Amino acid sequence: MTRELSSERFATRQVRSGFRTGLPQNPAVVPIYQTAAYEFASFAEAEAIFSLRRKGNLYSRTGNPTQTVLEERIAALDGGVAALATASGQSAVLVALLTLARNGEHIVAARQLYGGTLDLLTDTFADFGIDVTLVDQNDLDAWRAAARPNTRAFFAETIGNPTASVLAVQEVADIAHAAGVPLVVDNTVATPALQRPKEFGADIVVYSATKLLGGHGSSLAGLVVDLGTFDFGAEPARWPQFTQPFPRVGDVVLWEAFGQAGSAFLAYAKVKLVHDLGPSLSPFNAFQIIQGVETLDLRVARQSGTALRVAEFLAGHPGVSVVRHPGLPGDPGHEAAKRYLPRGAGSVFSFDLAAGAKAAPAFVDGLELFALVANIGDARSLVIHPATTTHSHLGDEGLAGAGFTRATIRLSLGLEDPDDLIADLDRSLGLLG
Ligand SMILES: *Cc1c(COP(=O)(O)O)cnc(C)c1O
Repeated sequence: MTRELSSERFATRQVRSGFRTGLPQNPAVVPIYQTAAYEFASFAEAEAIFSLRRKGNLYSRTGNPTQTVLEERIAALDGGVAALATASGQSAVLVALLTLARNGEHIVAARQLYGGTLDLLTDTFADFGIDVTLVDQNDLDAWRAAARPNTRAFFAETIGNPTASVLAVQEVADIAHAAGVPLVVDNTVATPALQRPKEFGADIVVYSATKLLGGHGSSLAGLVVDLGTFDFGAEPARWPQFTQPFPRVGDVVLWEAFGQAGSAFLAYAKVKLVHDLGPSLSPFNAFQIIQGVETLDLRVARQSGTALRVAEFLAGHPGVSVVRHPGLPGDPGHEAAKRYLPRGAGSVFSFDLAAGAKAAPAFVDGLELFALVANIGDARSLVIHPATTTHSHLGDEGLAGAGFTRATIRLSLGLEDPDDLIADLDRSLGLLG
């Protein structure tokens, strides 16, 4: 069903990678394989597939052909060796990090994270016995100081939430590698259309495909991409999950069977974590995300351009005290954005109302075009007040650590005409007097 497209450019890959019909019915579009399980041709084939000696579908908890097309397409866009699709971005983060860190081990993560990821890392991972140190992602000394002998991953968002802080991917990757661990990045807001983290030394990429990859706010999905850059065989004692015999699949050593190029990392993620925890993507949602990805670079370029125009408008408005957008000169991320995001700084950013937190309800309710929605990356423009919603449990100290305040408004710019969006913001700011 697939063909090698390694020589093709980004726009070609986003519509073609992972699928060539060759099917008896000759469908032009990827079919939705709505099946829970697959029939084996023989006793021997069933045994070979279960023992990982042969590739093949067995049960849709661990894979489905529609999902496989999505996985191959995103791996191609990121230049990775393989990808794994999951039911949500949240489960993609979970599976990626649990593949690396187990009970008694440690993760260093940026403080500037999506609210749900902060909850997972600081609360549920504590229940699991995985210790997490949060650092300011812009403080390289803090990353360096936080690494310990039992550290198993560094984790950050390439464009942080909700302040649009720009991760110095190369610098943080170098520190992770000096500590002997991979850098895992959440590239949800940038998408591979604006940044391929592999070019800057990251090792594993995760996505909430619910956001810009799908692009229409209709389906949840997540992805984990193995860029094939981290050598887990260099220190086998640190990574027994890949370098010791794996009893569930006939004592295969995943690092010998799959290695770096075949993604021992994702083999373990799939055979153990997706199999045991069940965060599986439905074939229908996989199809929806594939449809979205076909227009990814067009939408992302347009939405990122709109966001910059809107940020420039807000920066010149007396009703706004600060705009956090790395495309604006003077923003702390402006220099880093020139290197890491030359094609655009994304479509999600935040600003503070000059009238303070008390003005937030009137401003948000006064908007007509922006929808009040706890989501980003939709074709529609969205607004949210993070301090009372997505980041509501942080408290004043947590908000300060995450780099925003109670007067902060987050916008996600969609595909509407930018002039209509600016008029809506202008009118609602005008209502504040
Ligand atoms: C939304 C989001 C997630 C979680 O993804 P879901 O698809 O909602 O589970 C993780 N990281 C970032 C940056 C997000 O925006």
